Amino acid sequence: MKSKPDNYNRGEDAYNWKGDWVGETGLHRWVSRNKPKPKVCEQCNKQPPKDLANISGQYKRDVSDFEWLCRKCHMESDGRLERLHKIDKRGVNNPNYKHGKRCGVNG
Ligand SMILES: [Zn+2]
Repeated sequence: MKSKPDNYNRGEDAYNWKGDWVGETGLHRWVSRNKPKPKVCEQCNKQPPKDLANISGQYKRDVSDFEWLCRKCHMESDGRLERLHKIDKRGVNNPNYKHGKRCGVNG
């Protein structure tokens, strides 16, 4: 028997979720099942959407964390996420973090 965390089993049945992490692809499938593709991109409301894009970058199992985007908006949102990932939370809150990685270079 695999041990499961205590909070497993709480209302998860509604989503027909097996409880195991199936990775990004499985999540995308789950989202596309639960979040029907709209006629137009949710960002620009012009182009037909191409891809499901994750909004927070955390791939939550939550349809509100995903949006249907056309190719252009998806690329833009990826760029946005990339920038987000580069800003580490520690870097924002902890001034010491800034020089943590760059020391050892003296002039
Ligand atoms: Zn768009």
